[in-house]
Amino acid sequence: MDKLTEAARDFVDAAKLAYERRYRALLEEGSHEATMRLKRQMGEDGFCGMTLPRAYGGMELPLLTVLRVTQAFQVCDMRLGGLSHRFNTGPMGAVAALAPEALRQRYVTALCRGEITMSIGISEPHAGSAATAMTTRARIEGDKVVLNGSKIFVSFADESDCTLLYCRFGNTGTPGDIGAVILPHDAPGFSLSAGTRNMAGELQYELFMDDCRLPADHVVVQSNAFGKLIKHYNGERLGSVARQLGNAEFCLNYAIDYIKERQQFGRELADFQGLQWMIADMKVKLDAAQLLTWRAAANAHGEEADALETSISKVYVAQATKEICDDALQLLGGYGYMMEYPIEHRLRETRGGGLYGGTTQIHKNMIAGHLLGRSNSQWKKA
Ligand SMILES: Cc1cc2nc3c(=O)[nH]c(=O)nc-3n(C[C@H](O)[C@H](O)[C@H](O)COP(=O)(O)OP(=O)(O)OC[C@H]3O[C@@H](n4cnc5c(N)ncnc54)[C@H](O)[C@@H]3O)c2cc1C
Repeated sequence: MDKLTEAARDFVDAAKLAYERRYRALLEEGSHEATMRLKRQMGEDGFCGMTLPRAYGGMELPLLTVLRVTQAFQVCDMRLGGLSHRFNTGPMGAVAALAPEALRQRYVTALCRGEITMSIGISEPHAGSAATAMTTRARIEGDKVVLNGSKIFVSFADESDCTLLYCRFGNTGTPGDIGAVILPHDAPGFSLSAGTRNMAGELQYELFMDDCRLPADHVVVQSNAFGKLIKHYNGERLGSVARQLGNAEFCLNYAIDYIKERQQFGRELADFQGLQWMIADMKVKLDAAQLLTWRAAANAHGEEADALETSISKVYVAQATKEICDDALQLLGGYGYMMEYPIEHRLRETRGGGLYGGTTQIHKNMIAGHLLGRSNSQWKKA
């Protein structure tokens, strides 16, 4: 571990130890009960709510430390990296910062104990990159909030207890209408699709709200909140970037071990200079990708990372980690393409990095808008 992330060293070491001693066996068991035990254990070990306020059981650790932990967990096991991301850089950061006190006490505290996880529902069938075109509505009726609409592509919705649901409170048709509620998954009028399997083998869910009624105190934030919500979402974006970095780190190390072992033409593959240069290029890309991410994390306030630095990290990491995983596959030859080797799954999962949390093109729009000093609105002129 280098000086830049020295403060994270103890946490990263503890994460690797916890994986070896306690988490690995539970992951191998793989049952629902084992996953529940794993979550509780992570809560007891202090790996839940690491960025969240101490007042609710969190640790208020710097985002950079937390990203290093998620990357280390991801190297150990992709599912563990996913859990670490959801527990530490998921939408609960926005709840901790923006929700009324009673909601924070209830939900943030439970997540910090490893008792619950929360999904995020932003995308809709007709509002993907153009997220502010969302039409899911929230209407306050006395002491209830009534939701109508649907969401798409929601990750881990089956395993989560609730969703931070972005929705429209006003009728002006502008982003100013957008706020958010906590939607418990047992709410009347709420249902989940069976899930669509993505190319990494995970399920993405549709959420349906059909006159779904919640206590009105489940409103996190009403109108004019989109900008505030997205500021926290930048921390979440970097959490998923840490998972991509973990995949690339795993693939690079695996490929290095492999070419030192595998012999062709009577020599180790590692003797061939063409392959040595591939390994060197992979390392240069991994370090560059990490440094861009660590910069964004180091400059963040809590989970609120700078938009430009987050976009730069997102764009570069999605491309670089995809190339690193693909080069690792190439270094393993035909074996790399086989499912019994761990590389192809890492490549498939990493491919999502250019899609979720804003696509590569959308982040490039934002970077260009910043550089050119333009709002760079993508909306068709009236
Ligand atoms: C693995 C995975 C997990 C996800 N998890 C979640 C989740 O938990 N919660 C959630 O709410 N959503 C989630 N999403 C949805 C994700 O955020 C959307 O897929 C993403 O925002 C893009 O929207 P879209 O798929 O509708 O593509 P579209 O918006 O239809 O875009 C299609 C293509 O057009 C390009 N494009 C669109 N507009 C422009 C423009 N103005 N300039 C240049 N190019 C443009 C895009 O970059 C893309 O290449 C997930 C997606 C994936 C793949």
